[in-house]
Amino acid sequence: MTEKKYGKSFGDLNSLKQNFFNNNDGMLKMADGMADILNGQPLRTVCKICGSPLGYPADARNDRTDTKACEQSKAGPAGEEKGHGDCIVRSHGIDYIVCPECGHLNSAHEDTDDFASKVYVEDDYSKNYSMKDKESYDRRMNMIYVPKAQFLIDSLKKDGISEIRDLDIGAGCGYFVAALHSFGISSTGIEVSDTEVEFGNLMMGMDGSGTDEATGSNGASAAGTEQGGEGAKYLKCVGLTDSSSYIRNTDANVISAIGVLEHLIHLKDNLNAVRDNKNIKYLYASVPMFSFSCAFETAFQDCYNRHMGGTHTHLFTDESIRVMAESIGFEVAYEWRFGSDINDLYRFISVSMRKNGNEEFADMFAEKFTPLMDKLQLVLDESEFSSELHFILRRK
Ligand SMILES: [Zn+2]
Repeated sequence: MTEKKYGKSFGDLNSLKQNFFNNNDGMLKMADGMADILNGQPLRTVCKICGSPLGYPADARNDRTDTKACEQSKAGPAGEEKGHGDCIVRSHGIDYIVCPECGHLNSAHEDTDDFASKVYVEDDYSKNYSMKDKESYDRRMNMIYVPKAQFLIDSLKKDGISEIRDLDIGAGCGYFVAALHSFGISSTGIEVSDTEVEFGNLMMGMDGSGTDEATGSNGASAAGTEQGGEGAKYLKCVGLTDSSSYIRNTDANVISAIGVLEHLIHLKDNLNAVRDNKNIKYLYASVPMFSFSCAFETAFQDCYNRHMGGTHTHLFTDESIRVMAESIGFEVAYEWRFGSDINDLYRFISVSMRKNGNEEFADMFAEKFTPLMDKLQLVLDESEFSSELHFILRRK
């Protein structure tokens, strides 16, 4: 039985995402570039999650822009005829196929090592870090990652688990690791980007000297205080192909992967490593979902596609998550569903209005609309077709 929770106030998150509004065309161009790289990869033959064969309409292979192929495939019952896949979603130059078995939304072209090497370009972190970086690090950590940590702690408490040893995979700059530390919980992270590892360790190290203001707004002293100092070592740089062996050997009882599974080219290897390491009792992840955001993006082709495109080459469904859990002997124990579909819709309307010369009306619209967004999003979350899902899988 899965315990479900819905909604979360969007709060001031747009202050962290101003770029999506102010630099729509630049972001769009970046995503289009990634789409071109994806379309240069081989066609996907099986579903990323359940391995079922995917049919891609024969006509569409040569001419992606021919919408007839798509209509043709929709004409017959889904998945009944070989060669006629379910090409139901085309957006921003990319075709997606819905898996006839688990509903997982797969890009028609495969995410490969070549794709990853071209799209995951390292961020240019400045070498001169300051307290200002530390302030924005903590702000982001508190706003986005502390609630995620709280959800994990609360859920496991219900299972009678109070001792959490977490290994965070795809840890990035260590925001989630730092969030767990703020609750006094042991967590380390592995990450492929060495600049992010360096930056994250430095930021977390700033908590370590024991100075009062360094521990963030929670007031709780970081678990790492003793080990901190000049630069913590909570994050470790581990190459893409080495993460699964790292997972195999961890003594952590929880693996966390916040916004990571969708990016793993070798997802199966990592999942099998979780399955085989019996120390691991829980897998905590958040993933992008096949959702209302997909429809909104599809309808607004001139707006930046945050959700379906870029490095998101496949999107999950409740069923594909269930299948994924089953495949490693886990079950979906807890869910927390909150999306940003409404924020996407708001952004698309706002950007489009401003593009066509309605600056003033767009401001008025913003004033009327933004106070409603949490309520509207909650309706979408409760429909269970919203853009993001946090879930905790438990070993059976
Ligand atoms: Zn599938």
